[in-house]
Amino acid sequence: MPRTTIVAGNWKMNLDRARARELAAAVAARRGEAAGVELVLCPPAVYLETVGATLAGAKSDVGLGAQNMLDKPSGAFTGEVAPPMLVDVGCRYVILGHSERRTLFGETDAAVNAKAKAALAAGLVPIVCVGETLAEREAGKTAAVVTTQVQDSLAGLSPTDLEKVVVAYEPVWAIGTGKVATPEQAQEVHALIRGLLAHLASPAVAAQVRIQYGGSVKPDNAASLAAQPDIDGALVGGASLKADDFLGIAKAFA
Ligand code: PEP
Repeated sequence: MPRTTIVAGNWKMNLDRARARELAAAVAARRGEAAGVELVLCPPAVYLETVGATLAGAKSDVGLGAQNMLDKPSGAFTGEVAPPMLVDVGCRYVILGHSERRTLFGETDAAVNAKAKAALAAGLVPIVCVGETLAEREAGKTAAVVTTQVQDSLAGLSPTDLEKVVVAYEPVWAIGTGKVATPEQAQEVHALIRGLLAHLASPAVAAQVRIQYGGSVKPDNAASLAAQPDIDGALVGGASLKADDFLGIAKAFA
């Protein structure tokens, strides 16, 4: 079965409630422009319910995703959000191990692994982010870094669970910098990741896993990325804050 492409917007810590509602309504209204592409909006946690209600009100199939969660179902974890809480407010997806979580908040592959398992157990689709820094790329360590991140972040998942995971390859040097990876650079790493997934599960499972590219994706560079055989969608930061740009990118993956 061909893979359904998936384009997700990571709004990060941006917008306010009114603007979140407005953006979600605009994406829902124009969703048909990217027919056949799975679309996901990941607002800040406090706006999940508002965005979820807007999407539901529009009878839209645009999915709701969180930007992070803890791997525990409940308890004394001040300031954290549990997987069942995300499900409770209508989330179907959760971004895990984004490079900002890894670098600013010290998230390790082991933590991402625990979160991925907890997300799957709660019925959420984890969007697991991996990617090398500029220094690592320049030192020729891209393959080694991405291999460790993929193997350790996805360790111990059953083939059935692995098939549900979305992997986002996001070179850290391309995030929010305007420096997009060339389609060839991205394809090379995506093919590597698919090979690793084949080892973790099987070639058949690896063939089903969607691998997104993320890092300065814009409407004008999305088509060349989408043309690569192992690029199955995009995780979009800055450009997801404008409906025109987000849908322009999504259209390229239709
Ligand atoms: C991101 O943070 O996941 C991202 C890809 O950001 P941007 O599109 O702004 O580079």
